[in-house]
Amino acid sequence: MNMQVKNISSPTSNGHFVRANLAAVKNRIAAAALSAGRNVNEIRLLLATKTVSAELIAEAVASRETLIGENKVQELKQKDSLLSPLAVERHFIGHLQSNKIKDILKYVNCIQSVDRPDLIEKLDSRLQFEGRQMDIFIQVNTSFEESKFGISPDHAIDLLRMANRYETLNIKGLMTIGLFDADPEKVRPSFRLLQQISNNAVDLGLLNDHSALSMGMSGDLETAIEEGATIVRVGTAIFGKRIHPDSYYWNEQKSA
Ligand SMILES: *Cc1c(COP(=O)(O)O)cnc(C)c1O
Repeated sequence: MNMQVKNISSPTSNGHFVRANLAAVKNRIAAAALSAGRNVNEIRLLLATKTVSAELIAEAVASRETLIGENKVQELKQKDSLLSPLAVERHFIGHLQSNKIKDILKYVNCIQSVDRPDLIEKLDSRLQFEGRQMDIFIQVNTSFEESKFGISPDHAIDLLRMANRYETLNIKGLMTIGLFDADPEKVRPSFRLLQQISNNAVDLGLLNDHSALSMGMSGDLETAIEEGATIVRVGTAIFGKRIHPDSYYWNEQKSA
């Protein structure tokens, strides 16, 4: 999956590389939309900013980016004072442990990683207590890999049905992390499956017909756009390689 990300500029002290990389990613998005016959305005770029400093995030926001995604409550807390003055929407895209619900609600506009009934119940009771609502996505494990979080495709409709019963939760769409493979044709079924689940859910009245599909990352965003992505989540291709492997973020103890 690194085939398409090897030409990124390397970090310099002034952050110019962020602007150059952003322009390159936007070109990729535009080209993919064009070849898929889609309107590029339907596709939103989410900056995956785990491990990225608030200063570099501010650089991207200065280039008119409006959406970031973070994976750890602790990182959101650390960056909060620098991010707060910025006009940027924050989504949570990491695994959410139930004991972090109260904290995460302080820092984000949307939680894209809702993937189990007990999390829905606990989110609802905290939101009721605070007298507010929260935008959510249901995360689906479309790659069938044990190591990945997300509700299994077979149970996604049931979880959507359950989430629909809570007035505290505004369901905005579905999210997935595709199979990791450099071959787009091996990744494509993951994205196609998410689109199919979304279509089923719309037919059943569980999602509205302009719901979001959050799928595609640095290595596979073209394939995701071909399969209907409306949000692509891009980190490495904009900010460079991270110090931690992705397993650090994705393979925490699954029982949490
Ligand atoms: C890190 C991350 C991304 C971005 O991955 P890159 O390959 O760096 O573009 C997207 N989605 C999630 C859930 C992530 O944790």
